[in-house]
Amino acid sequence: RLEIRNLVRLFDGRRVVDEVSLRIMPGQVTCLLGPSGCGKSTTLRMIAGVEMQDSGEIWVDGKLVCDTVFRVPPERRQIGLMFQDFALFPHLSVAGNVAYGLKGSKDEKRARVAELLERVDLLRFIDGYPHQLSGGEQQRVALARALAPRPRIMLMDEPFSGLDNRLRDGIRDETLSLLKEEDTAVLLVTHEPDEAMRMADEIALMRDGRIVQQGAPYNVYTRPVDRAAVAFFSDAN
Ligand code: ATP
Ligand code: MG
Repeated sequence: RLEIRNLVRLFDGRRVVDEVSLRIMPGQVTCLLGPSGCGKSTTLRMIAGVEMQDSGEIWVDGKLVCDTVFRVPPERRQIGLMFQDFALFPHLSVAGNVAYGLKGSKDEKRARVAELLERVDLLRFIDGYPHQLSGGEQQRVALARALAPRPRIMLMDEPFSGLDNRLRDGIRDETLSLLKEEDTAVLLVTHEPDEAMRMADEIALMRDGRIVQQGAPYNVYTRPVDRAAVAFFSDAN
């Protein structure tokens, strides 16, 4: 379970993230949806721990992970990351990529790697290298890698935008079912309303650093909070 409370980030005196609060339960997908520059990636980077908030708190499974005085380092937050440009390590095999960051004995690691590659249907490439895979296959390896350590939270920043339309739908669905099976709490950033409608249990609409509306996809779509929200949904379609 992920909870963020009143997160604020200032750049040059401007509040690019302005009192953002969210709560995401295990197995639930929340889409952070909004126009370019509204503060989506900055929010994710603070949760991941690669950027420090100016104020506010981050909690994972009921434990404080970060406030302005206390800070758990990124690698100990049980948070998985999938970003658009989060490339595989080219010098490591597929197995090496998925095992990266895993703890345990060699046999345990090998078993977990095989289990995940099986689930993304890439077991046959276990000893292959990233350059031998298509873009979509690489993306699935990246998904397996992100899930391997059993993160409680998964942060995804436009993870599907590098894919062509044909591949995207399949990988989206696959990703979603894997995350649900593992009971992961997911925060997915996108600026595509379609993607949010398809994947989200809840949509948080962000603008100028603030969450202006939050709710079930159908409600957000059919009862937009203001004109700008209407325009955002229709422009993007
Ligand atoms: P996009 O959809 O284009 O990815 P975004 O919602 O992810 O946009 P952010 O990357 O979070 O937007 O950026 C929010 C605002 O903060 C932008 O105006 C950006 O210029 C500004 N910003 C981000 N990082 C920095 C930084 N390191 N220094 C100064 N300004 C920054
Ligand atoms: Mg961004």
